[in-house]
Amino acid sequence: MDNYQAPLRDFRFLLEDVFDANQLWERLPGMSGVSTDFVRTVLEEGARIASRELAPINHSGDREGCEWADGTVTTPQGFRQAFTALGEGGWLSMNGNPDYGGQGLPKMLTVLIEEMFYSANTSLFLYGTLTAGAAYCIESHGTEAVKRRYLPPLYDGRWGGAMAMTEPQAGSDLGLIRTRAEPQADGTYRVKGTKLYLTGGEHDLTENIIHLVLARLPDAPAGTRGLSMFLVPKFLVDERGALGRRNKLRSLSIEHKMGINGSATSLMEYDEATGWLVGEPHQGLATMFTMMNYERLSVGMQGLGLSAIAVQSAGAYAQQRLQGRAPAGPVHPDESADPITAHPDVRRMLLVQRALVEGGRAFAILVGRELDLVRYADDDDEREQAAAFVGLLTPVAKAFLTDRGLDCCVLAQQVFGGAGFIVETGVEQFVRDCRIAQIYEGTNGIQAQDLIGRKVLRDGGATLSAFVDRLRAELPRDARHYAATTAEFDRLIAVTADLIERCEQDPNLAGAIATDFLELFGYTVYAWLWARMDACAGADEFGQAKRYTAQFYFDRVLPRADALVRGIRADSNALMAVPDAMF
Ligand SMILES: Cc1cc2nc3c(=O)[nH]c(=O)nc-3n(C[C@H](O)[C@H](O)[C@H](O)COP(=O)(O)OP(=O)(O)OC[C@H]3O[C@@H](n4cnc5c(N)ncnc54)[C@H](O)[C@@H]3O)c2cc1C
Repeated sequence: MDNYQAPLRDFRFLLEDVFDANQLWERLPGMSGVSTDFVRTVLEEGARIASRELAPINHSGDREGCEWADGTVTTPQGFRQAFTALGEGGWLSMNGNPDYGGQGLPKMLTVLIEEMFYSANTSLFLYGTLTAGAAYCIESHGTEAVKRRYLPPLYDGRWGGAMAMTEPQAGSDLGLIRTRAEPQADGTYRVKGTKLYLTGGEHDLTENIIHLVLARLPDAPAGTRGLSMFLVPKFLVDERGALGRRNKLRSLSIEHKMGINGSATSLMEYDEATGWLVGEPHQGLATMFTMMNYERLSVGMQGLGLSAIAVQSAGAYAQQRLQGRAPAGPVHPDESADPITAHPDVRRMLLVQRALVEGGRAFAILVGRELDLVRYADDDDEREQAAAFVGLLTPVAKAFLTDRGLDCCVLAQQVFGGAGFIVETGVEQFVRDCRIAQIYEGTNGIQAQDLIGRKVLRDGGATLSAFVDRLRAELPRDARHYAATTAEFDRLIAVTADLIERCEQDPNLAGAIATDFLELFGYTVYAWLWARMDACAGADEFGQAKRYTAQFYFDRVLPRADALVRGIRADSNALMAVPDAMF
């Protein structure tokens, strides 16, 4: 399946009608040049790149995969050319700082570009995501000299980026990291250790690769408080930015994987490689979190992008596949059978996908809006509030978009019947490529712990309440789904208050209900998004489709929240009374 049609009409509806992005951009300093026409042009050009440059090498890239030989990695045919096109076209510097050659575009816009690129070719775009994430981290924490030297070539795609945290014994628990960094007389560090599963750790797409490595200084305390972050380039770079000798890091092998086969995942060895400290000593985790948070939303977009192309394929297939007759009598009596869209169960599958994908896209823009406020608002209180909302929403964006993303990819595959299991139709690749998004960048289980522990319990639910108040204020009282949405908000607040009390008595409770709570939060916010989309939909066919889907969401998807609430109200005994030996 190398065809991809970007949902441009949907993008415009969300930015212009639902979120009135223009009004926001006009009042944010630095954003005033972002006009509706400009945004439309950027989206159209992004759609062109996605469908012409990225989608045609998606399936072939999956079949070919990457090859490792003696420390070098060869990516699939066409990847280098397409990556160069992304860099030269400015698609890797969209959010970059204009002082160093970035474009400073709003995140509300660029999440949609990310969606398109992930839909068209997830494996290829992952190299770009790691590059943009590394640049963002350097921009946030690097010295002026480091920014001048490293940002321009990362922004234009001449160099790539990699994030080096995981080690064989240290995955979710980064406190177990053993890689060491010894200070040298010249101010550099010798980095020694082995890192596992590095996306884009080695490849042939760029002339240099900048690794951001978590390691321990000799005097470091144990655990996560003893980590520092080091910039370790594949080729050393002189003051003028010219490439020098090869640094002492090496890919020992690449992984054979279930999906994202065009994305090279390396086992890396740093053998006294030369590195530079970025940020403060022992604050490496906080420094790296700049990159991780960027990547977490981006991984959410991977889930969304893949489910978006999957639902597009499923809809097209269902309309032309003839099997059986509609329960209320033939829809096409002149044909041998009706299209499978006549069957209520197939409609269920297609509408669940639509409700979750379109709701997810609106959710991504909502997160993008808060990120833009953090970066560009001139009012300190507004920036602080938005930063708290970003903290609350990031684990949900990562986990809910990828969990629902995989659900939708599997449903799309189901709509294809047997053809969905066959490689040539392409839909099985979406399922395989989506699965990793639930695992990396912190598993979805870890995201759920983050939400309930750090973002909800720690401040007694204050940020969550403020966020819900903000959403309530933004929903017109005469909206068709106003009452249903506010009832969901009331319930979320009541469930949260009850949890805060019960978690004080039961140390296992937060972990026991974390995933259910994240899902409840996700379905509740999607209710608000669907209520808003419904309220903003026009009288045309497009608007009517939005209203049908909104109704379906409230009638058939949102009731999942009832079951989640029942589970959350149970105590942790159902899990914790079970003896370890039973597993
Ligand atoms: C294809 C691929 C690409 C990757 N790319 C990168 C990369 O570029 N850079 C990088 O640094 N890493 C990368 N990773 C590593 C990835 O981020 C880790 O695999 C992931 O964070 C999980 O760690 P783990 O595999 O050690 O699982 P573990 O930490 O062993 O977890 C196993 C299970 O236990 C659960 N669990 C663990 N601890 C807790 C807890 N405290 N509470 C509740 N549940 C818990 C987890 O949710 C999971 O279900 C990549 C991995 C893969 C497979």
